[in-house]
Order: sequence, then C-alpha cells, then structure tokens
Amino acid sequence: MSEAKIIDGKAFAAGLREKIAVEVAAMKKDHGLTPGLTVVLVGEDPASQVYVRSKGKQTEEAGMESTTHRLPAETSEEELLNLIEKLNADKTVNGILVQLPLPDQIDEAKVISSINPDKDVDGFHVTNVGRLWVGLEAPVPCTPYGCLLMLKDTLGDLTGKRALILGRSNIVGKPMASLLLAESCTVSIAHSRTEDLPERCREADILVAAVGRPEMVRGDWIKPGATVIDVGINRVDAPEKGEGKTRLVGDVNFEEASKVAGAITPVPGGVGPMTIACLLRNTVIATARQNGLPDPDL
Ligand code: NDP
Repeated sequence: MSEAKIIDGKAFAAGLREKIAVEVAAMKKDHGLTPGLTVVLVGEDPASQVYVRSKGKQTEEAGMESTTHRLPAETSEEELLNLIEKLNADKTVNGILVQLPLPDQIDEAKVISSINPDKDVDGFHVTNVGRLWVGLEAPVPCTPYGCLLMLKDTLGDLTGKRALILGRSNIVGKPMASLLLAESCTVSIAHSRTEDLPERCREADILVAAVGRPEMVRGDWIKPGATVIDVGINRVDAPEKGEGKTRLVGDVNFEEASKVAGAITPVPGGVGPMTIACLLRNTVIATARQNGLPDPDL
C-alpha cells in the first residue's frame, strides 16, 4: 500500500510566521504601528503555561508587542472582567486572548462576551461566531483556520468535497464546519452520539478529527486517498522511552491511517504549530482593521 503525503504543519507555520514578520515590519515603517497581543492566564495549569510561553515568544519573534497578565488561581470573575475592561480601552492592545480553561469560579462565556469583538483574536465572541456563519468579516478561530490553510494547500479547490468533522466543540468542530461550508464542501459533523461512526468516516474525502481520544480513528475508517487532518493532542504513557515517560499522539492512529490516506497531518508537527501562527495573523489583521488599513495579504 502506498504511503500518504505527510502535511508538514511545522514548515507551513514557519512560512506563515515569516510573512507575518514582513507585514509587521511594514506596518511599523509605513504607519508607526506595532501590533500588540495581550494574553491573560489565570491559574497554574501546566499545559496552559506552556502554550502561553510559546505564544509570547512567537509574538515577539514576529516583531510584535507581547504582554502576558498572570493572575492567581483564586482570581474572582469581577477582577478578571475589570482587567478586560481596561484592555478593551487600551489602544496599544490590538488583540486579547484569555487562555482557557478558566478556574471554576469564573464563567467562561461571560468572560469571552466581555472582550471587545474587534480585539477577540480567538474568534470565540458570539458576535464573531455569528459573523463567521453569515459570511461577514470576522476573526476566524485559529485552530480550524490553520486546518483550512493546510487543506487548501494540499487539495487546491475544495468545492464539492465530502468533509466529515469528528467533534462539535465551539473552538474546533463547529467553526471548522463553517469554514468548509464556505469553501462549498458537503459537510457532516459527527460526535459521541453519531451512529455507524466508522462508516460515516469512510465516506469522507476530508476527515478532520477533533475528539480528544488517543488514536481513536483507525486505518479502516478512512477512505483510500482521503486527506486526514488530526487536531487531537493527547499525552499517553510511553514505557518504551523509559519509566514514567510520555509521548503525544493524535486522535488518529497515524501508522494505520498513513497507509490508506492520500495526505495526513502528523502529531506533533501538524495542526499544533499552525494554531499559534494563525493567532499572530489574526492580531496583525485586527491591528489593520482597528486603524482603518486594508487587510494584509496573509
Ligand atoms: P472537546 O472535548 O470540547 O470536544 C470533543 C468532541 O468530540 C465532542 O463534540 C464530543 O462529542 C466528541 N467525542 C468525544 N468522544 C467521542 C467518541 N468516542 N466518538 C465520537 N465523538 C466523540 O474537545 P476540543 O474540540 O476542544 O478538542 C479536541 C481535540 O483537539 C483535543 O485533543 C484537544 O487537545 C485538541 N486541540 C488541539 C488544538 C491544536 O492547536 N492542535 C487546539 C484545540 C484543541 P459530544 O459533543 O457528543 O460530547
């Protein structure tokens, strides 16, 4: 059986970040603007700390202004809302990202709704969700947008392709469906109550897996030649690497799937690196829109 083309998200993201850095330099030179991204982290969640550090580093490397507010786990909802109000009013802050998950005493939906939609670089505000669905200009959620860029680069025109999205979360599954519908795919969304899941998956030319279940999608769930985008990031034990060691796997069994698919993203090195690159892209676009400039070609 032939091996699938491996979609190199790491290289793709590096290319996008280079284009972003060029755009940022031009904004500074031509308009005296430095795009600014502010990240708010509440609590000590180890995975969130890693993401936030990585976001800060890549924001600075692109020549942008990066600010991180680290708040203690016991921060009240009111304190967080007050901070967001200040950031909304601060003209040097072009993008605001509140790292999820938030501690239990804070209502996530309320916090997301309090962010100025123009600065909502995650694209999670209900206004932006609605704008995306009706085809109006809006910041597009970073992970699904990264998936879309890789799909278009791999397949070109997506018109008429059958796409199955496995997972219906607000941050991945639903916006992914919206983006693929806008590309004229025939879109299905599957979830934990879907019947005959392997059969539904086998019908898809494009399979996007975002379930958070290690290696759930098996090789025989995949239509030969299909393009598979694996969003899942799951840490599993790896005794072969030594006692107590772990490794990252996706929601797709890569070894099996790569023998059947036409193209596939690896984990790590696929969707993950694209997510932060798309966040930087959203911040640069938000800066342009807030200052009455045309959208940069990114
Ligand atoms: P959620 O937990 O919010 O959603 C998971 C979805 O998968 C739900 O819709 C759920 O269905 C569905 N699901 C769960 N189990 C099954 C099953 N056995 N069969 C069919 N469907 C199932 O996850 P997220 O969307 O936030 O994340 C999904 C994965 O993507 C995770 O591994 C996460 O770590 C990763 N991720 C990666 C990112 C990146 O940058 N690469 C960014 C964001 C997420 P139901 O609604 O019925 O419960």
